Amino acid sequence: MTSPSFSAPLPTSEPTSGPASSAASSSDSEAGEATRATSAAGATTSRHRDVVVGVLAVQGDVREHIATIESLGGRAVPVRRPSELAAIDGLIIPGGESTTIDKLTRTFGLAEPLRDLIAGGLPVYGSCAGMILLSDVIADPSTDRLGNPQQTIGGLDMVVRRNAFGRQRESFEADLAFRGLAATGSVAGEDPVRAVFIRAPWVEKVGDGVQVLAQVPAAETPQAGPSGAGEQGAEAELAPVARIVAVRSGNLLATSFHPEVTGERRVHELFIRMIRGEA
Ligand code: GLN
Repeated sequence: MTSPSFSAPLPTSEPTSGPASSAASSSDSEAGEATRATSAAGATTSRHRDVVVGVLAVQGDVREHIATIESLGGRAVPVRRPSELAAIDGLIIPGGESTTIDKLTRTFGLAEPLRDLIAGGLPVYGSCAGMILLSDVIADPSTDRLGNPQQTIGGLDMVVRRNAFGRQRESFEADLAFRGLAATGSVAGEDPVRAVFIRAPWVEKVGDGVQVLAQVPAAETPQAGPSGAGEQGAEAELAPVARIVAVRSGNLLATSFHPEVTGERRVHELFIRMIRGEA
């Protein structure tokens, strides 16, 4: 597994940034990207070249998501400016630090346009911190020095709890049954997803329209979260329960874990199929 670059914001002047890279399609860069896609994933991948996936690139493991989309033959572009939203067919909000992503997304004027685009049907996939950003409610939001709670972009009718799996298990892996991957066309569609959790949230409550795609089985779930889950409901929390870690609602997909760091491509493939209207 590669190690995700969570702590350091990406430089703001990468050669790949800017509207030119997302909108233009010079034959040189097309050829370069196609070669990368082919070498990473075999000859079958160019079928997604018409799909442009933006990756919100204010902080977090942006590169890993770009690499995963490109390995599937899709085009991936970093998004840092509101003007760049016009060129994308779908958006990934990466793992990282949800408080930082929240602040920078608002500072860069991306939060409001994104809410409008989500309401209008833009497909968005959030992993880990990205799941927190897509959630309507955070059970335990962080507050800044003035006491203002962190905000979300929202769209998923659910409650998430940050860092929920506890200090003892800041990072762990589990094999998950994941609904909806069988149709990816891969023979491995039904295989369990090896999920890597890094200070991950879990979903505490979902609304009617939110479909649960994967849960960490009770036997692999720690007994209590670090920030109140145990104290508030000590008796209810004595027995471990399964925890929701992947959801879908319409155009929105979210996972508590990071398929982008393990070489697991089926979740991104599902997202591309959502963008194409095939799932
Ligand atoms: N704990 C982080 C947060 O609350 C999320 C961690 C991650 O994205 N791996 O934002």
